[in-house]
Order: sequence, then structure tokens, then C-alpha cells
Amino acid sequence: MATTEPLLINCGSHGKRVSAVVCCHMLKADLPPVGFVENSDDPNDLQAWCNACEAKFQAEGEMTEAFRKFNGMTLVCVTCYAEKKLVHMTQPSGGSYAV
Ligand SMILES: [Zn+2]
Ligand SMILES: [Zn+2]
Repeated sequence: MATTEPLLINCGSHGKRVSAVVCCHMLKADLPPVGFVENSDDPNDLQAWCNACEAKFQAEGEMTEAFRKFNGMTLVCVTCYAEKKLVHMTQPSGGSYAV
């Protein structure tokens, strides 16, 4: 099985780590949780964006230029990614956990 080399990033707070991708909205620390929609759970290629980005993506139907601009994909390290997940993941309203 072919394994993809993880892309490394030199994170200011965590040092050299595997990189992950989040949208720009999650990086504004003083905002209330914006949601956390995970698109890839490959540990070498983690990707997530917020609820607003998910709605925008649904509206656009695909990765359009307008979506990319709105999303503002940013590389972070996997530790930062895990922290963003904790901060922005909102409680499911229906009481059941979707996996
Ligand atoms: Zn977003
Ligand atoms: Zn980091």
C-alpha cells in the first residue's frame, strides 16, 4: 500500500508537525464557535471548515473560486487543528452523535 508523505509545517507554538487545513474563520480566536465540519480524517491530510463554509459549499455545489475565497484555507499543524476542533465543534442539537 502506498503511503503519502505527510506535509510538514513549522508551527510557531508546536514546532515541526504534520500539517492540516482549516478555513480562515476558525483562526479568529475571539469569535464564538463557528462549527467544525471535517472533510478528511486522514491523519496525514486533515481538512475541516466551519458551518458557514459548509453552507457556502452546498450553495456553490463545488470548489468554485468564490468558495475558495470565502473559505480562505489555511495550513495549521495537527495540534492546532485538534485545538480548533475542541473550540469550534458545537454540540449536536438532536441529541444523537453523527459519526
Ligand atoms: Zn469557514
Ligand atoms: Zn500548532
